[in-house]
Amino acid sequence: MKTIDDFNFEDKKALIRVDFNVPLDGEFNVTDTSRIEAATPTILKVLEDGGSAVLMSHLGRPKGQVNSDMSLSHICEKVSEIVGVQVKFVNECVGDEVASAISELQSGEVLLLENLRFHAEEEKGEQGFAEALSKNGDIYVNDAFGTAHRAHASTTIVANYFEENKCFGYLLAKEIKAIEKVMRTGEKPVTAILGGAKVSSKITIIENILDKVDNLIIGGGMTYTFVKANGGQVGDSICEDDKMELALDILKQADEKGVKIYLPVDVLAADAFDNSANTRFVDVNEIPDGWQGLDAGPQSLEIFKKVILESKTILWNGPVGVFEMENFAKGTIAIGNFIDEATQSGAFSLVGGGDSVAAVKQFGFEDKVSYVSTGGGAMLESLEGRTLPGIAAILG
Ligand code: AMP
Repeated sequence: MKTIDDFNFEDKKALIRVDFNVPLDGEFNVTDTSRIEAATPTILKVLEDGGSAVLMSHLGRPKGQVNSDMSLSHICEKVSEIVGVQVKFVNECVGDEVASAISELQSGEVLLLENLRFHAEEEKGEQGFAEALSKNGDIYVNDAFGTAHRAHASTTIVANYFEENKCFGYLLAKEIKAIEKVMRTGEKPVTAILGGAKVSSKITIIENILDKVDNLIIGGGMTYTFVKANGGQVGDSICEDDKMELALDILKQADEKGVKIYLPVDVLAADAFDNSANTRFVDVNEIPDGWQGLDAGPQSLEIFKKVILESKTILWNGPVGVFEMENFAKGTIAIGNFIDEATQSGAFSLVGGGDSVAAVKQFGFEDKVSYVSTGGGAMLESLEGRTLPGIAAILG
């Protein structure tokens, strides 16, 4: 796997695909700078080698139209501040004006190109557009994990024009290594904690990871499809009746593969989907009509704790309760605490894909786990076992 450390950028122009799709407020101020910060080590490596950096990204969904609200010019000052270099801006990403700005670029300088998605060809992955982008640098560096699952011109197709001169930036390399650790090289026992609302949205992940893990903890709304399929009473809990057979098949497959499955044994049930609803702890198999399970109960958490603390590699995807409501967030917070404890004892822990990242950030676990993925959709597709086109393009 070729990374940015395999190149010396002296007198070279690095064309870096970054993910600067950052949130802006009504006055175009960047409200969360974490994506810019995440790309900074890669930019600095190029500059410290004596090279220059040409940055390209998308922002928002302009759908192939120029839209000044989504111009990357809005973030140029913020990028300058974070990188520590006055970043230049050109209001196109291909063409003569860009070529002339790049030819004037000196070692140590950074140029930010305009939003790639002002061109419909970007998302279509069009060859001609990718070739035009490839003129913007000597070495192509992909550091945008968030779009690595898309075969867009700047994330995938452009790599075809660089033969040997292409590599992963630090951020993308870190994401790839974290996934590798969980899926292939991690120390055993490996435990996955899968939560979230529905079995249907996690089924491909479950089927893929049954070959990689020793333990699978299932929580959240998914629980009730498994419980009902096993003959339990789930009351008004979220349940996908048409996925019950699939749930039984997963349990059978897990058994055949020697994977231990842990479902909640008790849950916090509520008489409405509301933070102020009446609540009580009930056996997961005996949820009365009119009540729905919205969080894991204390006995379940004790069992999960033991499994997590004995693990050496941990993957967490999806909350074990409706964490957006304070009264049903305790289970998810407890899982975060157990993973924190396991990580302090030497386990490797990866949190990624979907709402678990939001939960981890909301409850302050971001610095307590080994790695929090920056790419929602890209991480989900990796966990499903798919080869991401943006990664394959660098490897190929
Ligand atoms: P996902 O994006 O698949 O990880 O799903 C996350 C969503 O699942 C969150 O919005 C949670 O509120 C929701 N969720 C978790 N547990 C439950 C539950 N027991 N009942 C309904 N929704 C749940």
